[in-house]
Amino acid sequence: MVIDITKGENNPILRKKSPKHGKVTKKTLKLLKDMEDSMIATKGVGIAAPQIGVNTCVVHITVNDGRDTFPMINPEILERSEETEVETEGCLSLPGKWGPVERSIWVKAKFTNDKGEERVMRFEGFEARIVQHEVDHINGLLFVDHVPKGKLKIESVEAE
Ligand SMILES: [Zn+2]
Repeated sequence: MVIDITKGENNPILRKKSPKHGKVTKKTLKLLKDMEDSMIATKGVGIAAPQIGVNTCVVHITVNDGRDTFPMINPEILERSEETEVETEGCLSLPGKWGPVERSIWVKAKFTNDKGEERVMRFEGFEARIVQHEVDHINGLLFVDHVPKGKLKIESVEAE
């Protein structure tokens, strides 16, 4: 089911650190499906549970150039490259805002998959950037927090 995206830089739901997600249950799978539907409907490349109003550590990213979606429960970055790159980012929760964000070029992350199995995986390039952006969300951070002063671009967006 497509859910309205939670928006706003100072929205308390987006600014709260989400508690760890418990066991993977039917409720988790329903949440993941709603997140996937909402991400696809808004043409997002990743989504975190707080963005559909649920404060829990669950994210969904796209991989393989957007062809596949990939659920991650309780994702945690274990290691990250010292080497970084700067790319323009936006966010479904901050429509019309764009800005340069410096991120590590690879990360090693631990997470639980939708079968309840723990995994450790290395993500590179754009996928590493998405993982870092979504892990920020469950920690109450937004990309604008990383944009250097005066570098945020704001476009007017049509009222929804
Ligand atoms: Zn975002």
